[in-house]
Amino acid sequence: MSYKTWKSQKYLLDKMSLNDLVKAYFTYPGIQVYLMLFFALCILAVYSLGRLADLAIVVVVVILVYPLVWYVLHRFLLHGRWLYKSEMTAALWKRIHFDHHQNPNDMAVLFGGLHTTLPTVVVVTAPMGGLIGGLSGAAIGLAAGILVTCFYEFCHCSQHLGYAPKSAFLERIKQLHMAHHFHNETGNYGITNYLWDRFFSSYYDSNSSVPRSPTARNLGYTDSEAKRYPWVAQLSTGSETAPIVAAKN
Ligand SMILES: [Zn+2]
Ligand SMILES: [Zn+2]
Ligand SMILES: [Zn+2]
Repeated sequence: MSYKTWKSQKYLLDKMSLNDLVKAYFTYPGIQVYLMLFFALCILAVYSLGRLADLAIVVVVVILVYPLVWYVLHRFLLHGRWLYKSEMTAALWKRIHFDHHQNPNDMAVLFGGLHTTLPTVVVVTAPMGGLIGGLSGAAIGLAAGILVTCFYEFCHCSQHLGYAPKSAFLERIKQLHMAHHFHNETGNYGITNYLWDRFFSSYYDSNSSVPRSPTARNLGYTDSEAKRYPWVAQLSTGSETAPIVAAKN
């Protein structure tokens, strides 16, 4: 299925069941590319004959480093309030995070774009894996990074799904991510792992411990900012994106 065909269906998570989500997830072209790459990289890792101990170390390091990298990117890049200030990066920022905070239930803007996510995963995991275990280390590092990305994207989707998770862990991370969207966006940046939020003091577990933020939906791209930096607003008019308004909920 092409991205266009996939996108022509409306995937609104608040109106979907877990079954619908699984179907939409596995037919999403980006996820299919990840899974194909994952299997190809596993084969490459086996054929390039790395030491098993090195490969295990690479996988553990990727699993540890990945949440930190996404924490830093989410907090300082996506919520950094500088990507919309340049005409060159405004469209990118709109696509990779502004739209998701505007329309948190729209699965089409929830997934990170392949063209931005995949290079990031490559840069973070392949050189590190290569240093530890040569070619097969790089391959298994990237494979692990891709699989963790798939896990992360699925958890993120399920957090926006209109259902109450049975597992206490999923329920908990869902509640924390909902607070990031609807209460105060300057905290709880982790999606599946809030360790780094605790470490960098951006963790809050009850909505009464931090004030409600008026910019949780527009990420600081207010009407006055839109006058100074019009590019995101120009791209928003006429699209399915909701008008830029401060969060009322
Ligand atoms: Zn997000
Ligand atoms: Zn979200
Ligand atoms: Zn965010």
